Amino acid sequence: MNYTNTLEYAKMMDEKDSLKSYRNKFYIPIVHGKECIYLTGNSLGLQPKTTQDAVMDELEDWANYGVEGHLHARNPWYSYHELFPELLTDIVGAKAEEIVVMNQLTVNLQLLLTTFYRPHGKRNKIICEAKAFPSDQYALASHVLTRGLNPEACIIEVHPREGSQVIAHEDIVTAIQQHGDETALVLFGGVNYYTGQVFNMKDIVRVSHTVGALCGFDLAHAAGNIELELHDWQVDFACWCTYKYLNSGPGSVGGVFIHEKHIHNASLPRLAGWWGHNKERRFKMEKTFDPIPTAEGWQLSNAPVLSMAAHKAALEVFREARFTDLIEKSKLLTGYLFHVLKDINHHFPEPVMDLLTPEDAHGCQVSIVMKKDGKRVFDRLIKESVIADWREPDVIRVAPVPLYNTFEDVYRFGTIILQTLKDSDN
Ligand SMILES: *Cc1c(COP(=O)(O)O)cnc(C)c1O
Repeated sequence: MNYTNTLEYAKMMDEKDSLKSYRNKFYIPIVHGKECIYLTGNSLGLQPKTTQDAVMDELEDWANYGVEGHLHARNPWYSYHELFPELLTDIVGAKAEEIVVMNQLTVNLQLLLTTFYRPHGKRNKIICEAKAFPSDQYALASHVLTRGLNPEACIIEVHPREGSQVIAHEDIVTAIQQHGDETALVLFGGVNYYTGQVFNMKDIVRVSHTVGALCGFDLAHAAGNIELELHDWQVDFACWCTYKYLNSGPGSVGGVFIHEKHIHNASLPRLAGWWGHNKERRFKMEKTFDPIPTAEGWQLSNAPVLSMAAHKAALEVFREARFTDLIEKSKLLTGYLFHVLKDINHHFPEPVMDLLTPEDAHGCQVSIVMKKDGKRVFDRLIKESVIADWREPDVIRVAPVPLYNTFEDVYRFGTIILQTLKDSDN
């Protein structure tokens, strides 16, 4: 791409953008009296304008029907969760029966580890990324502990090499192979939350399976952000939250993938609940658990309809926009962000920032190490109505997303950084 770091160019790109009308389908927060430049869709996606009506419909049906809403609401609550798999197949690259929407992310990770971390004999190790999101670290350690094992011995973290922040794929492969017959499970993020690095999931699964280990992913920063082919890659299981790139509201309901090859296996141990039980017989209140032979067989509780209503409204926007088109725009938009940031470096004798995110393995998010005046730049961004994410001591994370961000957002973000650093030079 021949990008140019000018306002005219950014405006021209926005004009040409076939998805430009989607921005208007979201509420853009007002900061200091004007529409902000919202660059934290990786943390909490913005609210679609259709969400309020979707939630209000359920509140109205509850008011009008009471318990009868389970069967007579416009979207009957009894089967509400069944609306989701079809809406998610493109986004995660899975068959409908491999997907279920339930609970929240960390809960789902715990449930999946109950089924898929099955240490036996010396095959008791879990291989994961160093500095995984803390909730994931706690979840892994808690499983090792509840099996009577020692996390120090059983959890093998793959670290970045000296002087690097990202993890080399070869090092992941080597770690899995080195611990081959001791590895029970390989668990990675799809996209690292801090660096924005996209892992080579397809190959991580392949290598895991060659040593006889299972392989799962936490897709919190991947779902709705990058292309996924969970079924074809033979991923054993995955889970994600829906409030980041999937715009489904704070703490909203989570998503789960379980590969087809596992969903029929009623003997897989799991933490069971009535909502995972044979639907025809659920209300017979029988003693013996008979799991539904799809990912739904892992459900525990009946559908949390209010948060699901927000999720449904958000996924309908994705479906209308078409996920492949969103990915195409995303690549252009984040490519432009890389261009703008590198161009800023060229304005100074020494680079003023390092980019943590690998240019050959990224989604929407770019993590920037400010080599000087980081906090000053960040404070200026806030003053200029930019919402970005600051991590001590010197990292700014931003994620222009294709549904509601523009090339002009990216251009203006760059200009504020450049101006602030130039001002502090004088
Ligand atoms: C956002 C995020 C979480 C948050 O977990 P919740 O259970 O939704 O609070 C967990 N893990 C990762 C990798 C995340 O990015």
